Amino acid sequence: MKCPICKHGDTQAGIASITLERDGSTMVFKRVPAEICENCGEIYHDEKVTHSLLVQADQAAKGGVEIDVRRYAVA
Ligand SMILES: [Zn+2]
Repeated sequence: MKCPICKHGDTQAGIASITLERDGSTMVFKRVPAEICENCGEIYHDEKVTHSLLVQADQAAKGGVEIDVRRYAVA
């Protein structure tokens, strides 16, 4: 797809690492499927991936995790 940020590049399917912070918890997800802009490097995820990341981050925050690094798994 055309990148909505720079409106110049096209996005390519790839793998990215994502960091989320929630209530003092830091979650790092590795190997997350993503669309990455070849021009500006902006990273996009589809809704399913975004939702899954947010659910996992919420669970970690509730569990009192301070920092967690995990490999992305489809929920
Ligand atoms: Zn871009």
